[in-house]
Amino acid sequence: MIKIGVLALQGAFREHVNALRKCNVEAVEVKLPADLEQVDGLIIPGGESTTMVKLMQLYELDKKIIEKHNNGMPIFGTCAGAIVVAKKISNAQKDSLDLSSTQFSLNLADIEVERNAYGRQIDSFEAELDIEEIGKFQGVFIRAPKMRVHNKEGSINSLRILAKINDEIVMARQQNILLSTFHPELTGDTSVHEYFIREFVIGNMNKVQKAASIVKKL
Ligand code: GLN
Repeated sequence: MIKIGVLALQGAFREHVNALRKCNVEAVEVKLPADLEQVDGLIIPGGESTTMVKLMQLYELDKKIIEKHNNGMPIFGTCAGAIVVAKKISNAQKDSLDLSSTQFSLNLADIEVERNAYGRQIDSFEAELDIEEIGKFQGVFIRAPKMRVHNKEGSINSLRILAKINDEIVMARQQNILLSTFHPELTGDTSVHEYFIREFVIGNMNKVQKAASIVKKL
């Protein structure tokens, strides 16, 4: 059975676990590096990115996530989770008690995020999205960040934008990373989770199986 981990240090992890179970996959809460051993994919939930990264570093989950990801583990970052995987956080210290000018991130996706870019809690909103490859989806935005393509090296960017509202990117994918600035786990609709499972997790498992059978034949 497919097993997907949900980073469970802080934030909306229970809702992701429930959504995954509705999709008939095994969902496990990831609190320590060992919990990542058997997972086929990882969801990093929404919450408070500054707290989440501090706890991640404290439990040395950051290193393990990067290691697993380098070995093919797909990641889905939602809201604060997207901030955690971004290469650049443009207003890192704003709205945070952290006095250091840079906020740690896993530095995996070619995006720049601006935290809390639509305003404060009171400016949270819902919007109907039209997501490429998924279709209509009700997006719930809570102190959401804005994402921009971050292509510092000028290399060909494999980042693909999947949805926008008012010209703002709200969902994107790059290699085996999926990102959304909204909370797909807060609606009863599991189509975004199904998309992650189908396109990223099963897609990667098929690749690994194919590679293993080629090695066997050699
Ligand atoms: N504003 C939060 C942060 O910067 C993200 C909000 C959310 O995940 N809903 O971490």
